[in-house]
Amino acid sequence: MPPKAKSDTKSSTSATNSSETPVQFVKGVGPRLGAIFKSRGIETVRDLLFFFPRAYEDRTRFAAIRDLQEGVQATTAVRVIGVNKIPLRASGRSILEVRCTDETGILSLKWFHAPRGIENRFKAGTQIIVTGTVKIFRGKPEIAHPEITWGLSTSTDTTTPDESASSMPHVGRIVPVYTEIEGVPSRLLRKILWEALQKFLTTLEEDLPTSLREAHGLPSLQSAIRAIHFPEEGGDKPETIAALVAFNSPSHWRLIYEEFFKFEYLVLRQRLRMEKEHARVWGKNGGAAATLDLTQKLPFALTKGQNTCVREILEDLEKPHPMNRLIQGDVGSGKTAVVFLCAAAVIAEGGQATLMAPTEILAEQHYINAGKLFDGKLNVALLTGKSTTAERNALFDRLARGEPLLLIGTHALIEDPVVFKNLSFVIIDEQHRFGVEQRRILRQKGFRVDPETGLKQFPHSLSLSATPIPRTLALTVYGDLTVSSIREMPPGRSPVITKVVREKKDRTDVYEHIRAQLQTGRQAYFIFPLIHESEAEGFTQLKAAAVEAERIGREIFPEYKIGLLHGQQKNEEKAAIMARFKKNELQILVSTTVVEVGVDVPNATIIAIEHAERFGLSQLHQLRGRVGRGQHQSFCYLFAATRTTEATASRLEVLEETHDGFRIAEADLEIRGPGAFLGTRQAGSLPFFMADVVRDKEWLFKSRDDAVKMLKEDPSLERPEHAPLKRYFDTDGGKQFAWLKTS
Ligand code: ADP
Ligand code: MG
Repeated sequence: MPPKAKSDTKSSTSATNSSETPVQFVKGVGPRLGAIFKSRGIETVRDLLFFFPRAYEDRTRFAAIRDLQEGVQATTAVRVIGVNKIPLRASGRSILEVRCTDETGILSLKWFHAPRGIENRFKAGTQIIVTGTVKIFRGKPEIAHPEITWGLSTSTDTTTPDESASSMPHVGRIVPVYTEIEGVPSRLLRKILWEALQKFLTTLEEDLPTSLREAHGLPSLQSAIRAIHFPEEGGDKPETIAALVAFNSPSHWRLIYEEFFKFEYLVLRQRLRMEKEHARVWGKNGGAAATLDLTQKLPFALTKGQNTCVREILEDLEKPHPMNRLIQGDVGSGKTAVVFLCAAAVIAEGGQATLMAPTEILAEQHYINAGKLFDGKLNVALLTGKSTTAERNALFDRLARGEPLLLIGTHALIEDPVVFKNLSFVIIDEQHRFGVEQRRILRQKGFRVDPETGLKQFPHSLSLSATPIPRTLALTVYGDLTVSSIREMPPGRSPVITKVVREKKDRTDVYEHIRAQLQTGRQAYFIFPLIHESEAEGFTQLKAAAVEAERIGREIFPEYKIGLLHGQQKNEEKAAIMARFKKNELQILVSTTVVEVGVDVPNATIIAIEHAERFGLSQLHQLRGRVGRGQHQSFCYLFAATRTTEATASRLEVLEETHDGFRIAEADLEIRGPGAFLGTRQAGSLPFFMADVVRDKEWLFKSRDDAVKMLKEDPSLERPEHAPLKRYFDTDGGKQFAWLKTS
């Protein structure tokens, strides 16, 4: 549906009627304008018809001159009385004034820069229709630089339909206003769209089956496109201009629904296809029992969410098809414990598993945790950039021999020499920190051809995410994954007391509170955002954090040791500082947001975040997850700049009220849009031209349900009414969304 969807058959340059006809063949366009359109991505008639108005004007009624009001936009039908040129003394130029009447009063039209020769068209007695914003000057109405429609009959009861206002683009209706394209004025665009609709509207092909349209009460593609450009008044519910501008009319819904439907269909089809691929089966020969056994030996009981997750994963592993699952749950919800337990099922039956983490600190922490939790009963190994050549060689040997193990590591895992004998289970922690390609390379290492059956086998794969994402986004960006959610935290964690601090004077109190905590032996994080995103790698962030670390140390907490962590440091340097903080050799850690997501220092009970207004709620929530990890009550202070608006402050207050990452994610999405979760690049490439996952989420859910149903009832689109959809998916549609696969 986006106008970018081009078919490959570009050969039809003849001006036969087709929506792929080059735009220059539309009446009024031609080669010069055609080139301008093309530079804006409008190449075909179809693209042009999908170039939508940015606003509308109500020109359904002509105002009488005597009713004209200051500052109000009006359309009025008038007769020319005469033309004046008012000389401007200084410049030698003149103002063109055209005086008109409609029997109720006199209206003056003015041009400060009149188009050349225009005055000759205003013969006395000529009927014109004038649109513009009224100014009352010395008690008399005037319009500067009005839009003029020529030679119309002013009587509304005209009998010749060709002359009636409703067959004209510019008056007598709600008229579209287009974003000017490089000097092509809105009025000309309106005329061009009008012509394009007359000649080419019928070339737009309907892809949606009638049954779906009728089920949702949606108009056909052609009538939707027509109504978006030139809305017809009438019916029992006239589409108001406000609704049109807000994409909130049946015509808009139809296009929104179609976009979502096609997208959801493709994503689901992709998922079904993956589900038909082959994978080795694990669990039935002692694997599931091993998981159960380890679960019972854990020093804690799993939460309900963890239990469900383990069960879902084990069920997946027992199927002869690859698992493609995402576990989302807040930091500390115990995702890692779940994956360890499930890896045990594969290892117990002689398989290999791997867990890739985004940083050395995290990989090491996972490795140490696994050792602690399972007391050597889970065979784990570690590979990071730090591993020595001797360690690597020994490890490669074990992998090649097919030793059943869980190999935990960093990016080092996807380097060339790492070869598994039978990798069957691939886990990616903090999956958004890896590129599609990196994830693919790791999975590729688990791909093999079964020597007995000759079948191609995929590894089972599991991604972890500590940023819960709202369901709408999960349906779009993770549409090809099955999602498990862990919604509760392990018991014994008391919620982090959170306060938004806006006033300068309150700061002192907060500092005193922090001091009191430090005196009882606790530790604190101070977080500073990047000053500007564009300076992410630059000097500014370093300076800001460094300057602040220095200031906090010197002015506020001279009695404590302070460490500084930032993105410019080498990994060893960062790890060394973290280690010192962990050992309580440093009591305060000043950091940019590089503080690792999973970093675990239970004695740290304070996190103070500067310029909290610059962060997304989900990000703040993640940062807050750094504390509240031990038995002591923890605190989170969100310092907002004093000039912070009320709206921003109340946004931050969501964090005072809740610890539910899913609720916070929903709020974040409402407020900041998909970019808050996907990073602006990925969000910008959400493939929707009309649809908006926040504004139109009801349509997303409907389209999802319909796509599921269609894939079930007519999986290969054999039914005649599905033929247009099949054609679309076999050509443009199939290609368009290829990039979106996450697995
Ligand atoms: P996540 O990866 O989701 O951030 P982890 O798996 O690292 O969380 O778990 C955080 C901490 O909580 C770890 O120290 C882990 O051992 C512990 N933990 C996990 N599950 C439970 C549980 N059910 N009860 C108590 N502690 C748990
Ligand atoms: Mg984790």
